Amino acid sequence: MSKFWSEAILSLQPYVPGEQPKQGNIIKLNTNENPYPPSPKVVEVLTHFPKERLRLYSDPDSTQLKQTLAQHFHVDYDQVFVGNGSDEVLAHTFMAFFRQPLPLLLPSTTYSFYDVYCDLYQIKTQHVPLTTDYRINLADYAQPNGGIIFANPNAPTGVALPLTDIEALLQENTETVVVVDEAYVDFGAESAVTLVNQYPNLLVIQTLSKSRSLAGMRVGFAIGSPELIAGLERVKNSFNSYPLDMLAIAAASAAIEDQRYFEQTTQQIIADRQWTDEQLTALGFNALPSSTNFIFASHPEISGAELMTHLRSRNILVRHFTKPSIENFLRITIGTRQEMEAMISALKEHPKLA
Ligand code: PMP
Repeated sequence: MSKFWSEAILSLQPYVPGEQPKQGNIIKLNTNENPYPPSPKVVEVLTHFPKERLRLYSDPDSTQLKQTLAQHFHVDYDQVFVGNGSDEVLAHTFMAFFRQPLPLLLPSTTYSFYDVYCDLYQIKTQHVPLTTDYRINLADYAQPNGGIIFANPNAPTGVALPLTDIEALLQENTETVVVVDEAYVDFGAESAVTLVNQYPNLLVIQTLSKSRSLAGMRVGFAIGSPELIAGLERVKNSFNSYPLDMLAIAAASAAIEDQRYFEQTTQQIIADRQWTDEQLTALGFNALPSSTNFIFASHPEISGAELMTHLRSRNILVRHFTKPSIENFLRITIGTRQEMEAMISALKEHPKLA
């Protein structure tokens, strides 16, 4: 606390990211990173990058990456926005569209950064409860609003909505912006990108941090109508237009182009998720149906906090949330098969699971 701080920052509740341990010898299943390295094409581009070019500023429009994304998603260039991680894209989105007289509608349990931005930008919110089986029911969002945001698949539950539900919402809700955060969509959900040309109020946000193994590069993007994208550009340029750095533009473009590697690694993660789900179920866990690279599971007899501490003492990090409605759950990232085997073996060392 400092006398130099304004009232506005005193009340902020900063986002607490998952731990990034400094020492090795840890199985890290706590922040939904991809266990595989980025595509070999990314490594090649970075290795041969003409480093003397780094003295120049990077392209403020990230043209190469936007062109690659436009081609990949079959949309026009002016329907693509890029940022430093989807967190930055989200920040600009909240600033651009959600500062409205009516509240923003969002799930009561979802990516906790949304509330942080609402706090920061003083956006009114209305949290819509999940169903008793932890699903988003979009029929509950048919009410006056200053915008709607949800993650599909949702986080930290991992549960996905069918595209037909999203389309039904868009048919009803035409006057405010609907944002679908698809950070995990590549692990088994249907993307709403196919709807952006029909619904000018739909903005779809994705990231290269998960299915493209580039969390450390910080690249995210949004796809929507030229109208929404121009709104985001306007906000970005008011923030002194932080462009992506040159290495990120080159690496992200290469990652999007290597479809084969992307498919191989996501399929492997999906197969290992299936295996992990079966093992957890056999141990008595209730695992929610996941369409992501993580599993959200609880055990009827052991608290989430206890399970997290048990795994931690065996050098395995998983995520546990203290929010009362989900405090019994663990969010376990799908790592390599070997890592998942180690995690399951460690769970079996718990006296109640042995
Ligand atoms: N949305 C959701 C639902 C997430 O879980 C995350 C990752 N924590 C993000 C967005 C942000 O990802 P990034 O900034 O790495 O693109």
